[in-house]
Amino acid sequence: MNVYDSARMADVLAPLGYASTDRAEDADMVILNTCHIREKAAEKVFSELGRLKTLQAAKAKTGSRMILAVAGCVAQAEGEEILRRAPFVDIVLGPQTYHRLPEMVAQAARAGGAVLDTEFPAEPKFDFLPEARAEGSSAFVSVQEGCDKFCTFCVVPYTRGAEYSRPAPAVLAEIGALAAQGVREITLLGQNVNAWNGGEAGWGLARLIGAIADLGTVERIRYTTSHPRDLDDQLIAAHAQIPQLMPFLHLPVQSGSDRILQAMNRGHDRDAYLRLVERLRRAQPDLALSSDFITGFPGESDADFAQTMALVRQVGFVQTYSFKYSPRPGTPAALMPDQVPEPVKEERLAQLQALLHQQTAAFNQACLGREMRVLLDRPGRHAGQLLGRSPYMQPVHVKAAAHLLGTVVPLRITAVHPNSLAAEPVDAGTS
Ligand code: SF4
Repeated sequence: MNVYDSARMADVLAPLGYASTDRAEDADMVILNTCHIREKAAEKVFSELGRLKTLQAAKAKTGSRMILAVAGCVAQAEGEEILRRAPFVDIVLGPQTYHRLPEMVAQAARAGGAVLDTEFPAEPKFDFLPEARAEGSSAFVSVQEGCDKFCTFCVVPYTRGAEYSRPAPAVLAEIGALAAQGVREITLLGQNVNAWNGGEAGWGLARLIGAIADLGTVERIRYTTSHPRDLDDQLIAAHAQIPQLMPFLHLPVQSGSDRILQAMNRGHDRDAYLRLVERLRRAQPDLALSSDFITGFPGESDADFAQTMALVRQVGFVQTYSFKYSPRPGTPAALMPDQVPEPVKEERLAQLQALLHQQTAAFNQACLGREMRVLLDRPGRHAGQLLGRSPYMQPVHVKAAAHLLGTVVPLRITAVHPNSLAAEPVDAGTS
Protein backbone atom coordinates (compact mmCIF):
# COMPACT_ATOMS: atom_id res chain seq x y z
CA MET A 1 0.00 0.00 0.00
CA ASN A 2 2.83 2.40 0.82
CA VAL A 3 4.57 1.60 -2.46
CA TYR A 4 1.35 2.51 -4.26
CA ASP A 5 0.90 5.68 -2.18
CA SER A 6 4.51 6.75 -2.83
CA ALA A 7 4.02 6.31 -6.58
CA ARG A 8 0.83 8.39 -6.44
CA MET A 9 2.63 11.13 -4.49
CA ALA A 10 5.20 11.22 -7.29
CA ASP A 11 2.31 11.52 -9.80
CA VAL A 12 0.85 14.43 -7.83
CA LEU A 13 4.20 16.22 -7.66
CA ALA A 14 5.28 15.63 -11.27
CA PRO A 15 3.38 18.69 -12.65
CA LEU A 16 5.37 20.85 -10.22
CA GLY A 17 8.59 19.67 -11.89
CA TYR A 18 9.59 17.08 -9.30
CA ALA A 19 11.10 13.79 -10.44
CA SER A 20 12.39 11.01 -8.24
CA THR A 21 16.06 10.49 -7.45
CA ASP A 22 17.92 7.66 -5.72
CA ARG A 23 20.25 10.07 -3.94
CA ALA A 24 18.74 11.93 -0.99
CA GLU A 25 21.63 14.43 -1.12
CA ASP A 26 20.44 15.62 -4.57
CA ALA A 27 16.83 16.05 -3.50
CA ASP A 28 14.98 19.35 -3.18
CA MET A 29 12.41 17.46 -1.17
CA VAL A 30 12.48 14.18 0.76
CA ILE A 31 9.24 12.45 1.74
CA LEU A 32 9.45 9.63 4.26
CA ASN A 33 6.37 7.49 3.64
CA THR A 34 5.99 5.65 6.89
CA CYS A 35 4.43 2.52 8.36
CA HIS A 36 3.08 2.29 11.90
CA ILE A 37 2.23 -1.38 12.00
CA ARG A 38 5.18 -2.29 14.20
CA GLU A 39 7.14 -0.38 16.81
CA LYS A 40 10.42 -0.91 14.95
CA ALA A 41 9.04 0.68 11.78
CA ALA A 42 7.91 3.77 13.71
CA GLU A 43 11.24 4.14 15.50
CA LYS A 44 13.11 3.89 12.20
CA VAL A 45 11.39 7.12 11.13
CA PHE A 46 13.06 9.10 13.87
CA SER A 47 16.51 7.67 13.23
CA GLU A 48 16.10 8.38 9.49
CA LEU A 49 15.00 11.94 10.29
CA GLY A 50 18.22 12.44 12.26
CA ARG A 51 20.24 11.46 9.18
CA LEU A 52 18.19 13.73 6.93
CA LYS A 53 18.57 16.68 9.30
CA THR A 54 22.33 16.59 8.65
CA LEU A 55 21.74 16.55 4.88
CA GLN A 56 19.23 19.38 5.16
CA ALA A 57 21.72 21.48 7.15
CA ALA A 58 24.52 20.75 4.63
CA LYS A 59 22.28 21.90 1.78
CA ALA A 60 21.30 25.04 3.68
CA LYS A 61 25.01 25.94 3.92
CA THR A 62 25.24 25.91 0.13
CA GLY A 63 22.22 28.21 -0.08
CA SER A 64 19.72 25.57 -1.25
CA ARG A 65 16.72 24.19 0.57
CA MET A 66 15.60 20.63 1.21
CA ILE A 67 11.93 20.32 2.13
CA LEU A 68 11.45 17.44 4.53
CA ALA A 69 8.06 15.72 4.72
CA VAL A 70 6.78 12.78 6.76
CA ALA A 71 3.79 10.96 5.27
CA GLY A 72 1.89 7.77 6.00
CA CYS A 73 0.61 6.15 9.14
CA VAL A 74 3.31 7.28 11.59
CA ALA A 75 2.54 10.83 10.47
CA GLN A 76 -1.18 10.17 10.97
CA ALA A 77 -0.72 8.73 14.45
CA GLU A 78 2.14 10.83 15.75
CA GLY A 79 2.01 14.09 13.76
CA GLU A 80 2.36 16.46 16.72
CA GLU A 81 5.05 14.28 18.28
CA ILE A 82 7.07 14.34 15.03
CA LEU A 83 7.01 18.13 14.96
CA ARG A 84 8.00 18.25 18.63
CA ARG A 85 10.89 15.78 18.29
CA ALA A 86 11.97 16.91 14.82
CA PRO A 87 11.11 20.63 14.44
CA PHE A 88 13.15 20.78 11.20
CA VAL A 89 10.40 18.75 9.44
CA ASP A 90 8.45 21.01 7.05
CA ILE A 91 5.37 18.90 6.24
CA VAL A 92 3.51 16.15 8.09
CA LEU A 93 0.68 14.52 6.14
CA GLY A 94 -1.52 11.48 6.67
CA PRO A 95 -2.34 8.78 4.11
CA GLN A 96 -5.66 10.38 3.17
CA THR A 97 -4.41 13.86 2.24
CA TYR A 98 -1.51 13.40 -0.16
CA HIS A 99 -3.55 14.73 -3.08
CA ARG A 100 -3.07 18.12 -1.36
CA LEU A 101 0.75 17.90 -1.49
CA PRO A 102 1.14 20.74 -4.04
CA GLU A 103 -0.61 23.18 -1.67
CA MET A 104 1.44 21.91 1.26
CA VAL A 105 4.70 22.29 -0.69
CA ALA A 106 3.75 25.85 -1.68
CA GLN A 107 2.94 26.63 1.94
CA ALA A 108 6.21 25.10 3.16
CA ALA A 109 8.18 26.99 0.51
CA ARG A 110 6.72 30.24 1.82
CA ALA A 111 8.22 29.16 5.18
CA GLY A 112 6.60 30.35 8.39
CA GLY A 113 6.32 27.07 10.26
CA ALA A 114 5.52 23.46 9.52
CA VAL A 115 2.41 22.23 7.69
CA LEU A 116 0.39 19.52 9.45
CA ASP A 117 -2.44 17.83 7.51
CA THR A 118 -3.68 14.59 9.04
CA GLU A 119 -7.40 15.03 8.38
CA PHE A 120 -9.76 12.37 7.10
CA PRO A 121 -11.36 14.48 4.33
CA ALA A 122 -14.98 13.76 3.41
CA GLU A 123 -14.01 13.59 -0.29
CA PRO A 124 -11.82 10.55 -1.06
CA LYS A 125 -8.34 11.47 -2.27
CA PHE A 126 -8.73 9.20 -5.32
CA ASP A 127 -11.12 11.76 -6.89
CA PHE A 128 -8.27 14.30 -7.00
CA LEU A 129 -5.33 12.20 -8.15
CA PRO A 130 -3.92 12.51 -11.68
CA GLU A 131 -3.82 9.52 -14.03
CA ALA A 132 -1.45 6.85 -12.70
CA ARG A 133 1.89 6.54 -14.48
CA ALA A 134 3.12 3.01 -15.06
CA GLU A 135 6.61 2.01 -14.04
CA GLY A 136 7.24 -1.33 -15.66
CA SER A 137 4.87 -4.13 -16.51
CA SER A 138 3.44 -4.78 -13.05
CA ALA A 139 1.38 -2.25 -11.11
CA PHE A 140 -0.47 -1.87 -7.84
CA VAL A 141 -3.98 -0.43 -7.87
CA SER A 142 -5.53 0.58 -4.59
CA VAL A 143 -9.21 -0.37 -4.58
CA GLN A 144 -10.05 -0.42 -0.90
CA GLU A 145 -8.72 1.38 2.13
CA GLY A 146 -9.25 1.39 5.83
CA CYS A 147 -10.58 -1.24 8.15
CA ASP A 148 -13.59 -1.78 10.40
CA LYS A 149 -12.36 -5.05 11.91
CA PHE A 150 -10.49 -3.64 14.91
CA CYS A 151 -8.17 -6.53 15.61
CA THR A 152 -6.96 -5.73 19.10
CA PHE A 153 -3.26 -5.52 18.12
CA CYS A 154 -3.62 -3.30 15.05
CA VAL A 155 -3.40 0.46 14.45
CA VAL A 156 -4.81 0.45 10.92
CA PRO A 157 -8.45 1.30 11.80
CA TYR A 158 -7.10 4.39 13.61
CA THR A 159 -4.54 5.49 11.02
CA ARG A 160 -6.32 4.61 7.77
CA GLY A 161 -9.90 5.14 8.93
CA ALA A 162 -13.11 3.26 8.10
CA GLU A 163 -13.45 0.82 5.19
CA TYR A 164 -13.86 2.56 1.86
CA SER A 165 -14.23 0.99 -1.58
CA ARG A 166 -13.38 2.87 -4.76
CA PRO A 167 -16.15 2.70 -7.37
CA ALA A 168 -15.66 0.04 -10.07
CA PRO A 169 -15.61 2.51 -13.03
CA ALA A 170 -12.72 4.46 -11.44
CA VAL A 171 -10.77 1.26 -10.77
CA LEU A 172 -11.36 -0.06 -14.31
CA ALA A 173 -10.38 3.30 -15.83
CA GLU A 174 -7.11 3.31 -13.86
CA ILE A 175 -6.34 -0.25 -14.93
CA GLY A 176 -7.19 0.57 -18.55
CA ALA A 177 -4.77 3.52 -18.47
CA LEU A 178 -2.03 1.39 -16.91
CA ALA A 179 -2.54 -1.40 -19.46
CA ALA A 180 -2.26 1.16 -22.26
CA GLN A 181 1.18 2.02 -20.83
CA GLY A 182 2.32 -1.61 -21.01
CA VAL A 183 1.20 -3.01 -17.65
CA ARG A 184 0.49 -6.75 -17.84
CA GLU A 185 -0.01 -7.58 -14.16
CA ILE A 186 -2.29 -5.81 -11.69
CA THR A 187 -2.24 -6.31 -7.94
CA LEU A 188 -5.42 -5.00 -6.34
CA LEU A 189 -4.65 -3.51 -2.95
CA GLY A 190 -6.61 -2.94 0.20
CA GLN A 191 -6.17 -3.34 3.93
CA ASN A 192 -9.16 -5.70 3.57
CA VAL A 193 -9.17 -6.01 -0.18
CA ASN A 194 -11.83 -8.70 -0.25
CA ALA A 195 -14.22 -6.40 1.65
CA TRP A 196 -14.28 -4.33 -1.57
CA ASN A 197 -17.86 -3.71 -2.70
CA GLY A 198 -17.57 -0.78 -5.08
CA GLY A 199 -20.00 1.07 -2.87
CA GLU A 200 -22.84 -0.67 -4.76
CA ALA A 201 -25.10 -3.64 -4.17
CA GLY A 202 -24.24 -6.64 -6.32
CA TRP A 203 -20.54 -5.85 -6.57
CA GLY A 204 -17.84 -7.81 -4.78
CA LEU A 205 -14.17 -8.43 -5.42
CA ALA A 206 -14.88 -11.53 -7.53
CA ARG A 207 -17.05 -9.50 -9.93
CA LEU A 208 -14.38 -6.79 -10.11
CA ILE A 209 -11.70 -9.37 -10.93
CA GLY A 210 -14.01 -10.78 -13.63
CA ALA A 211 -14.49 -7.29 -15.09
CA ILE A 212 -10.71 -6.73 -15.15
CA ALA A 213 -10.20 -10.07 -16.88
CA ASP A 214 -12.88 -9.09 -19.42
CA LEU A 215 -10.90 -5.97 -20.36
CA GLY A 216 -8.66 -8.41 -22.21
CA THR A 217 -5.54 -6.32 -21.63
CA VAL A 218 -4.28 -7.63 -18.29
CA GLU A 219 -2.68 -11.07 -18.25
CA ARG A 220 -2.30 -11.49 -14.50
CA ILE A 221 -4.41 -10.41 -11.57
CA ARG A 222 -3.55 -10.62 -7.88
CA TYR A 223 -5.11 -9.15 -4.75
CA THR A 224 -3.84 -8.48 -1.25
CA THR A 225 -4.48 -8.44 1.72
CA SER A 226 -7.50 -10.64 2.32
CA HIS A 227 -9.36 -11.20 5.55
CA PRO A 228 -10.68 -14.74 6.12
CA ARG A 229 -14.04 -13.25 7.22
CA ASP A 230 -14.59 -11.56 3.85
CA LEU A 231 -13.59 -14.47 1.63
CA ASP A 232 -16.96 -15.23 0.03
CA ASP A 233 -18.13 -18.09 -2.22
CA GLN A 234 -17.83 -15.98 -5.36
CA LEU A 235 -14.20 -15.17 -4.66
CA ILE A 236 -13.39 -18.82 -4.02
CA ALA A 237 -15.14 -19.70 -7.31
CA ALA A 238 -13.16 -16.98 -9.11
CA HIS A 239 -9.98 -18.94 -8.34
CA ALA A 240 -11.43 -21.83 -10.33
CA GLN A 241 -12.97 -19.81 -13.15
CA ILE A 242 -10.71 -16.85 -13.99
CA PRO A 243 -7.42 -17.97 -15.56
CA GLN A 244 -5.86 -14.52 -15.16
CA LEU A 245 -6.22 -14.79 -11.39
CA MET A 246 -2.86 -16.09 -10.16
CA PRO A 247 -2.79 -19.25 -8.00
CA PHE A 248 -1.35 -17.42 -5.02
CA LEU A 249 -3.23 -16.03 -2.04
CA HIS A 250 -2.07 -14.11 1.01
CA LEU A 251 -4.54 -15.04 3.72
CA PRO A 252 -3.40 -13.94 7.18
CA VAL A 253 -4.30 -16.19 10.10
CA GLN A 254 -2.05 -14.67 12.82
CA SER A 255 -2.50 -17.60 15.25
CA GLY A 256 -3.68 -21.21 15.26
CA SER A 257 -5.27 -20.98 18.72
CA ASP A 258 -8.98 -20.24 19.09
CA ARG A 259 -8.36 -18.58 22.44
CA ILE A 260 -5.81 -16.18 20.93
CA LEU A 261 -7.84 -15.60 17.76
CA GLN A 262 -10.70 -14.52 20.00
CA ALA A 263 -8.46 -12.26 22.10
CA MET A 264 -7.22 -10.75 18.83
CA ASN A 265 -10.86 -10.13 17.77
CA ARG A 266 -10.15 -11.79 14.43
CA GLY A 267 -13.78 -12.80 13.98
CA HIS A 268 -13.04 -16.39 12.90
CA ASP A 269 -11.71 -19.48 14.55
CA ARG A 270 -9.12 -22.06 13.56
CA ASP A 271 -11.67 -24.40 11.98
CA ALA A 272 -13.21 -21.66 9.84
CA TYR A 273 -9.73 -20.85 8.48
CA LEU A 274 -8.95 -24.50 7.75
CA ARG A 275 -12.32 -24.95 6.01
CA LEU A 276 -11.59 -21.92 3.81
CA VAL A 277 -8.21 -23.36 2.85
CA GLU A 278 -9.84 -26.67 1.97
CA ARG A 279 -12.48 -25.01 -0.22
CA LEU A 280 -9.89 -22.79 -1.92
CA ARG A 281 -7.73 -25.81 -2.72
CA ARG A 282 -10.73 -27.68 -4.07
CA ALA A 283 -11.44 -24.70 -6.36
CA GLN A 284 -7.79 -24.28 -7.37
CA PRO A 285 -5.61 -27.31 -6.52
CA ASP A 286 -2.50 -25.41 -7.61
CA LEU A 287 -3.08 -22.62 -5.06
CA ALA A 288 -0.04 -21.54 -3.01
CA LEU A 289 -0.75 -19.86 0.29
CA SER A 290 0.96 -17.09 2.18
CA SER A 291 0.08 -15.77 5.62
CA ASP A 292 0.94 -13.49 8.56
CA PHE A 293 1.77 -14.68 12.07
CA ILE A 294 2.27 -13.02 15.42
CA THR A 295 4.06 -14.85 18.23
CA GLY A 296 3.75 -13.88 21.88
CA PHE A 297 0.38 -12.13 21.72
CA PRO A 298 -0.69 -11.30 25.30
CA GLY A 299 -1.81 -14.44 27.10
CA GLU A 300 -0.34 -16.84 24.50
CA SER A 301 0.62 -20.04 26.33
CA ASP A 302 2.89 -22.84 25.13
CA ALA A 303 -0.27 -24.79 24.24
CA ASP A 304 -1.60 -21.87 22.15
CA PHE A 305 1.70 -21.61 20.33
CA ALA A 306 1.69 -25.36 19.71
CA GLN A 307 -1.67 -24.88 17.99
CA THR A 308 -0.09 -22.33 15.65
CA MET A 309 2.72 -24.73 14.80
CA ALA A 310 0.19 -27.51 14.17
CA LEU A 311 -1.87 -25.27 11.86
CA VAL A 312 1.25 -24.36 9.88
CA ARG A 313 2.13 -28.05 9.49
CA GLN A 314 -1.42 -28.85 8.40
CA VAL A 315 -1.78 -26.04 5.82
CA GLY A 316 1.73 -25.64 4.43
CA PHE A 317 2.66 -22.10 3.39
CA VAL A 318 5.01 -20.99 0.62
CA GLN A 319 5.69 -17.47 1.82
CA THR A 320 4.99 -15.80 5.14
CA TYR A 321 5.46 -12.72 7.28
CA SER A 322 5.99 -13.49 10.95
CA PHE A 323 6.75 -11.13 13.79
CA LYS A 324 6.86 -11.13 17.54
CA TYR A 325 4.03 -9.14 19.05
CA SER A 326 4.86 -5.47 19.66
CA PRO A 327 2.34 -3.39 21.61
CA ARG A 328 1.09 -0.44 19.58
CA PRO A 329 -0.01 2.62 21.54
CA GLY A 330 -3.78 3.09 21.62
CA THR A 331 -4.68 -0.52 20.80
CA PRO A 332 -6.56 -2.72 23.30
CA ALA A 333 -3.93 -5.48 23.27
CA ALA A 334 -1.27 -3.06 24.52
CA LEU A 335 -3.23 -2.83 27.79
CA MET A 336 -3.99 -6.55 28.14
CA PRO A 337 -2.61 -8.41 31.16
CA ASP A 338 -0.28 -11.39 30.68
CA GLN A 339 2.11 -9.69 28.26
CA VAL A 340 4.53 -12.40 27.12
CA PRO A 341 8.21 -11.87 28.04
CA GLU A 342 10.45 -10.86 25.11
CA PRO A 343 12.71 -13.96 25.25
CA VAL A 344 9.62 -16.21 25.01
CA LYS A 345 8.24 -14.26 22.03
CA GLU A 346 11.64 -14.51 20.37
CA GLU A 347 12.07 -18.21 21.03
CA ARG A 348 8.61 -18.95 19.59
CA LEU A 349 9.29 -16.75 16.59
CA ALA A 350 12.55 -18.59 15.91
CA GLN A 351 10.77 -21.97 16.09
CA LEU A 352 7.96 -20.80 13.84
CA GLN A 353 10.28 -19.22 11.30
CA ALA A 354 12.41 -22.38 11.14
CA LEU A 355 9.30 -24.36 10.20
CA LEU A 356 8.07 -21.73 7.72
CA HIS A 357 11.50 -21.54 6.06
CA GLN A 358 11.49 -25.32 5.69
CA GLN A 359 8.11 -25.15 3.98
CA THR A 360 9.22 -22.37 1.62
CA ALA A 361 12.39 -24.26 0.76
CA ALA A 362 10.45 -27.49 0.13
CA PHE A 363 8.01 -25.68 -2.15
CA ASN A 364 10.84 -24.03 -4.10
CA GLN A 365 12.64 -27.35 -4.40
CA ALA A 366 9.47 -28.97 -5.76
CA CYS A 367 9.49 -26.35 -8.55
CA LEU A 368 12.78 -27.71 -9.95
CA GLY A 369 12.20 -28.94 -13.49
CA ARG A 370 8.70 -27.47 -13.64
CA GLU A 371 7.56 -25.24 -16.47
CA MET A 372 5.84 -22.03 -15.49
CA ARG A 373 4.89 -18.76 -17.08
CA VAL A 374 6.91 -15.86 -15.70
CA LEU A 375 6.35 -12.14 -16.16
CA LEU A 376 9.80 -10.73 -16.87
CA ASP A 377 9.54 -7.28 -15.35
CA ARG A 378 13.10 -6.10 -14.65
CA PRO A 379 16.61 -6.32 -16.04
CA GLY A 380 18.80 -8.62 -13.92
CA ARG A 381 22.06 -7.76 -12.20
CA HIS A 382 24.12 -9.52 -14.88
CA ALA A 383 24.34 -8.70 -18.57
CA GLY A 384 21.73 -10.51 -20.63
CA GLN A 385 19.71 -11.48 -17.55
CA LEU A 386 16.05 -10.66 -16.92
CA LEU A 387 14.15 -10.98 -13.65
CA GLY A 388 10.52 -11.79 -13.05
CA ARG A 389 7.97 -13.39 -10.77
CA SER A 390 6.52 -16.83 -10.99
CA PRO A 391 2.74 -17.28 -10.58
CA TYR A 392 3.55 -18.01 -6.90
CA MET A 393 5.53 -14.78 -6.44
CA GLN A 394 8.96 -16.41 -6.44
CA PRO A 395 11.71 -14.24 -7.99
CA VAL A 396 12.98 -15.95 -11.15
CA HIS A 397 16.05 -15.03 -13.21
CA VAL A 398 16.79 -16.13 -16.74
CA LYS A 399 19.18 -15.36 -19.58
CA ALA A 400 16.85 -13.93 -22.19
CA ALA A 401 16.74 -11.38 -24.98
CA ALA A 402 16.02 -7.81 -23.87
CA HIS A 403 12.91 -7.59 -26.07
CA LEU A 404 11.22 -10.10 -23.73
CA LEU A 405 11.19 -7.52 -20.92
CA GLY A 406 7.57 -6.81 -19.98
CA THR A 407 6.22 -10.08 -21.39
CA VAL A 408 4.99 -13.33 -19.87
CA VAL A 409 7.14 -16.21 -21.09
CA PRO A 410 7.17 -19.96 -20.43
CA LEU A 411 10.30 -20.95 -18.50
CA ARG A 412 11.69 -24.16 -17.06
CA ILE A 413 13.13 -23.97 -13.54
CA THR A 414 16.73 -25.20 -13.62
CA ALA A 415 18.08 -24.33 -10.17
CA VAL A 416 16.80 -23.34 -6.74
CA HIS A 417 18.76 -20.68 -4.83
CA PRO A 418 18.02 -19.51 -1.27
CA ASN A 419 16.11 -16.41 -2.44
CA SER A 420 15.32 -17.03 -6.08
CA LEU A 421 14.87 -19.57 -8.85
CA ALA A 422 16.98 -19.84 -11.99
CA ALA A 423 15.29 -20.73 -15.27
CA GLU A 424 15.77 -21.24 -18.98
CA PRO A 425 13.32 -20.68 -21.84
CA VAL A 426 11.30 -23.89 -22.35
CA ASP A 427 12.60 -24.32 -25.87
CA ALA A 428 16.26 -23.81 -24.84
CA GLY A 429 17.08 -27.50 -25.05
CA THR A 430 15.41 -28.06 -28.38
CA SER A 431 16.26 -24.99 -30.49
S1 SF4 B 1 -8.20 -6.82 9.64
FE1 SF4 B 1 -6.05 -6.33 9.22
S2 SF4 B 1 -5.98 -4.08 8.99
FE2 SF4 B 1 -7.93 -4.59 9.99
S3 SF4 B 1 -7.56 -4.40 12.17
FE3 SF4 B 1 -7.22 -6.56 11.63
S4 SF4 B 1 -5.01 -6.71 11.17
FE4 SF4 B 1 -5.55 -4.52 11.15
